[in-house]
Amino acid sequence: MWEQEYFCPFCGAAVSVLLDSSIEKTSYIEDCEVCCRPLGFEVGFQNGNLTFFQVEAIEQ
Ligand SMILES: [Zn+2]
Repeated sequence: MWEQEYFCPFCGAAVSVLLDSSIEKTSYIEDCEVCCRPLGFEVGFQNGNLTFFQVEAIEQ
């Protein structure tokens, strides 16, 4: 597993998330654990190293 820290684009809170480094490319939606607004994640790994990480606010 890979621990990555990011800042929520809605509330600015620093949050860390655990990512599965065996999955090469994934995208998913998860609510911010601080403000509970939806965030879209895009994650890429290569050989167990994080190569791409993006968090964006999903407008409702
Ligand atoms: Zn938030």
